[in-house]
Amino acid sequence: MAKKKVAALEGAKMTEQGLLYNGFIIEPVVEKCDGCERAVAFEDAKYCPSYAQPDRKWKNGVCNFATHVRAEVSKDGEVKINPLKASKRAARGR
Ligand code: SF4
Repeated sequence: MAKKKVAALEGAKMTEQGLLYNGFIIEPVVEKCDGCERAVAFEDAKYCPSYAQPDRKWKNGVCNFATHVRAEVSKDGEVKINPLKASKRAARGR
C-alpha cells in the first residue's frame, strides 16, 4: 500500500490547467526540491503546499522554505548551498 503523506494537499484537485489547490494552480516540484520535507506526493508527481511554483522559487536563489538545504552567503558575496543533516536540524531545535 502506498504511504499516505501529510494531508497538506487536502482538497487539491487535478484540473486541465494543473493541480488546483487552495484556489491556485500549483506546479510540480523541481529537482532541487528533492529531499525537502514540504514536497507532497499527489497522484504521480510531488507538489509543494508552501510554494505554487517551485521552479520559479529556485530561479531566484535558494528556496527559503526548503527544509533540506540552507543558503549561506560567503564573505565575497557568493551564495553557498549547504545540505542540512537531520541531526543538525534537530540540534537547532527545528
Ligand atoms: S519548500 Fe521549496 S524546496 Fe521545498 S518543495 Fe517547496 S519549493 Fe521545493
